[in-house]
Amino acid sequence: MRGTQTEVLVVGAGPVGLWSALLLAEHGIEVTVIDREARTSARSYACALQPATLRLLDRLGLAESIIERGRRVETIAFYDGATRQGELRLSKLGGEFPFLLILPQSALESLLEQRLRAAGVRVHWNYRFDGLTEDEETVSAVIEELEGTSTGYIVPHWETVVKNRSTLRAQFLIGADGHNSMVRPRAGLEYQRVGDAESFAAFEFETEKKTADELRVVLDDTTTNVLWPLGENRYRWTFQLLRAELSGDFPEKERRSFRLGEPAIDERIRQYVQRVAHQRAPWFDSEVRQVHWCTEVTFERRMVAPFGRNRCWLAGDAAHQTGPVGVQSMNVGFSEADALGSILRKILREAAPLQLLDGYDRDRQKEWRALLGLSGGLKPHGQTNAWAVQRAGRILPCLPASGPDLPALAGQLGLTPS
Ligand SMILES: Cc1cc2nc3c(=O)[nH]c(=O)nc-3n(C[C@H](O)[C@H](O)[C@H](O)COP(=O)(O)OP(=O)(O)OC[C@H]3O[C@@H](n4cnc5c(N)ncnc54)[C@H](O)[C@@H]3O)c2cc1C
Repeated sequence: MRGTQTEVLVVGAGPVGLWSALLLAEHGIEVTVIDREARTSARSYACALQPATLRLLDRLGLAESIIERGRRVETIAFYDGATRQGELRLSKLGGEFPFLLILPQSALESLLEQRLRAAGVRVHWNYRFDGLTEDEETVSAVIEELEGTSTGYIVPHWETVVKNRSTLRAQFLIGADGHNSMVRPRAGLEYQRVGDAESFAAFEFETEKKTADELRVVLDDTTTNVLWPLGENRYRWTFQLLRAELSGDFPEKERRSFRLGEPAIDERIRQYVQRVAHQRAPWFDSEVRQVHWCTEVTFERRMVAPFGRNRCWLAGDAAHQTGPVGVQSMNVGFSEADALGSILRKILREAAPLQLLDGYDRDRQKEWRALLGLSGGLKPHGQTNAWAVQRAGRILPCLPASGPDLPALAGQLGLTPS
C-alpha cells in the first residue's frame, strides 16, 4: 500500500465496505479500502436484496446489471407447518423495484468490487486493521500487511504472518469489518446484547421438480424456517436449530468456492434436509437431490451504541446483528453507508460541522431499536387474524424491509411497527 494518508479509510471489503467506498469515490473523496482476507467471499450467505437496496444501487446505475444476475421474488408466504397463514405482496410497495432480488452475496461482492475498480479504487486485500489513535483532525490506523507462508516439515500447513506494520492517517475511518469487528472495540464502542442468540443451518440443493416461485417462511411453536427459491430447481432451506448446537462463534466467510465431496456424508446431509423439510413443512414434497453447500451459524441480537464517535463510525454487521430471515443486517448496512457517505461529503467538501454525525447515530439507533423490537415491536389491531397476533413478535425479523417499507409490509399482515 502506497502513501501514509487518505481522506477516508474503509476497514472491511464486504458488501457494506465496498458500497461505502464506492459512494465516497463517486463523491470525489479519496478513499482507501483494506481487508484482511485475500479476496471477496465465495458463498451466497445474505442472498436477497430488498427494494430499498435496489433503489440505492440504481442511483449509481448498478441496479440493472445486478437484477440481470438475480431472480425476482414478488411474494413472501407465511406458513405455520402445513397451513398457509398469510402472504406479503411486494408489488403493493409500488416504485420501480417492488420485489426481492435473490442473488448470492458472492456475486454482489464481486460486482461491487469491479465497479469500485472502474472508479479507480483497488481494494488492498491482505491488509489487517489492528488499532487506532485519534486527535482533533485525524485518525491514525495501525495496519498490518499479511502474507501466507507454509510451515511444518512432515505435515506442512499454511499460516498467515505479518509482513509489515504501518500507520495510515485518515480524516475519517469507517468500520465495515463485520460481526467480529476489530474497529468497534478499538474505538471503545459498546456492542450490546439485546436478545437471545438463534442458531440456523442453511442447505443449498437441487430438487427433482420446481416447488415454489415465492419465498416461504415456515413458523411453528419453536422454530423459524425459510425456503428460498434460488433459480430453476435450486433452493435453500434455512432451518432454525432446536438447541444452540454451535460454540457460539460467528464463522468467517468462506473464500474458497469449491467443496470437497464426501459421498457418505453428502448422502446423510441430503436425507437430513429431506426429513426436516418434510417435518416442518409437510407441503414440501419435492425430492432433494444434490446438496451443494451447507453451513451452520449462530446469529445474535445485538446493536452497538453509539454507532461511532469523533472520526470513527460503523456500518453494517460491525454495528448490528439479527436473524437471517429478513436479510436486514446487510440491507440496512447499505442505507447506513449511504447516510454516512453523504454526511462525510458535507463535512469534507462543504465544511459542515462534525456534529452532523450525531444525527447518523440517532437515526441508526432509532432504526435498529425498531427492527430489534426494542421500541415495542409489531402491534395488531382489531381485525388482525389470530395467527398474526400470536406470532407478531417472531414476524418482525422475518420482514425483508426497513424504513417506510417496513410498516407497508407489516400492514399486509394487519400489524403496525411501534
Ligand atoms: C456462514 C454465514 C451465513 C450467513 N447467512 C446469512 C443469511 O442467510 N441471511 C443473512 O441476512 N445474512 C447471513 N449472513 C450474514 C451476512 O453475510 C452479513 O450480514 C453480511 O456479510 C454483512 O456485510 P458487511 O459488509 O457488514 O460485513 P462482512 O460481509 O462480514 O464483511 C466484513 C469484512 O471485513 C473484513 N475484516 C474483518 N476484520 C478485519 C480487520 N481487522 N482488518 C481488515 N479487514 C477486516 C472481513 O474479512 C470481511 O471481508 C451469514 C454470514 C455467514 C458468515
